[in-house]
Amino acid sequence: MRRVRPDRAPTVRELLAAGGPTFSFEFFPPKTEKGARTLWRTIRELEPLHPAFVSVTYGAGGGTRDKTVDIVERIATDTTLTPVAHFTAVDHSQAELRHLIGRFASVGVRNILALRGDPPGDPMGEWVKHPEGVEYAAELVRMIRSYGDFCVGVAAFPYKHPRSGDIESDTRHFVAKCRAGADYAITQMFFRAEDYLRLRDRVVAQGCDVPIIPGIMPVTQLSTIERSEQLSGAPFPPEVRERFERVAGDPEAVRRLGIEHAAELCRELLDEGAPGIHFITFNKSTATREVYELLAGSGYGANGSRPPMTA
Ligand code: FAD
Repeated sequence: MRRVRPDRAPTVRELLAAGGPTFSFEFFPPKTEKGARTLWRTIRELEPLHPAFVSVTYGAGGGTRDKTVDIVERIATDTTLTPVAHFTAVDHSQAELRHLIGRFASVGVRNILALRGDPPGDPMGEWVKHPEGVEYAAELVRMIRSYGDFCVGVAAFPYKHPRSGDIESDTRHFVAKCRAGADYAITQMFFRAEDYLRLRDRVVAQGCDVPIIPGIMPVTQLSTIERSEQLSGAPFPPEVRERFERVAGDPEAVRRLGIEHAAELCRELLDEGAPGIHFITFNKSTATREVYELLAGSGYGANGSRPPMTA
């Protein structure tokens, strides 16, 4: 039976304002029944870590989009977690976007990560706006804000967005997106603290103080490195790659190093004042839990306290 929580879920804005750091986890909508069982097992395994929020990505097109709404609704009603729905403008008219924002509101989801999205099929293909849609994420931010009492996040890119001509225009457009009404941002994955710090410095230099949460993905196998280059649009840092190549022949050693490296990176970021850590989980709990436990060992836990260690 569904539980409806009596109190309203907090917004990410409120969670960040409560002091930090916030720890959060990202999931994607699975395509199969087996994938769905894995996702819900992972959610149950991560729930006792009391993340500040969990987010669910929005498919580039097709059937998983409805699943995003279903999953965030079930998280809102059946778990103790606060869901954030990713939401993109791809292939949607403004009327459809408004309808979907209404659906999020009707299932009790007040936290939305507003994204433009990539062309379906080929993320680097030509972006073609829906004839009655929006061109940039900033317009989606404004639309969600005008709709009602939502808390809106946006995407940030430490190495600039792959489509941006240069870092200056990338920063300018990011700051404009924040000024359109974003409460916080989450970054694309990166593997060196200084890359995040440079982004933050650029944004602060433009007079923008929107909290930027680092997006972290632990490397658990060498193939993740290649994949991360495609996803982040930037070369994997050579000095970090070297560390992984030294243990390349031993998959367990690669995994261990990946966990240690992610924990080191998170510690450095939190020491530098990052407002939280957003873990990209790929719907699996083990690596995230291990990094989280290492962080707790150095005194970092949800809202500045040590997180509980047992599921
Ligand atoms: P925008 O902010 O609109 O920027 C897109 C490009 O346009 C940038 O180069 C920007 O500099 C430029 N630009 C912005 N405004 C202007 C302007 N006024 N004039 C000229 N140029 C401008 N994708 C999904 O499909 N589903 C997801 O769930 C998803 N989740 C994500 C979560 C995170 C944390 C991140 C970092 C990315 C995610 N993405 C997701 C990918 C994202 O949708 C793509 O990277 C997309 O190409 C950019 O989205 P955006 O919201 O940053 O776009």
